[in-house]
Amino acid sequence: MAEDVEYVKNEKGEVAVACQIKLASNCAGKGAFCEDEEDARDWVEEECWVFSGVGYICLQCNEQIMRNLREIRPKTAR
Ligand SMILES: [Zn+2]
Repeated sequence: MAEDVEYVKNEKGEVAVACQIKLASNCAGKGAFCEDEEDARDWVEEECWVFSGVGYICLQCNEQIMRNLREIRPKTAR
């Protein structure tokens, strides 16, 4: 199983899924620390983080992406 999901570890050896893009100023950064990678992934999936295919994107960053998409519209008219 090839995957590039990024994890963070704490001193206790617990793992959490890291937000893939850390775009939003209020980005969650990472999910909750769990015993292993699988639990950590379950946690973010329950929180409805978006799986991009290579990693997970937290809700705040996902919102930021949506906001950016709306702002990309050309502002040519005055
Ligand atoms: Zn994020």
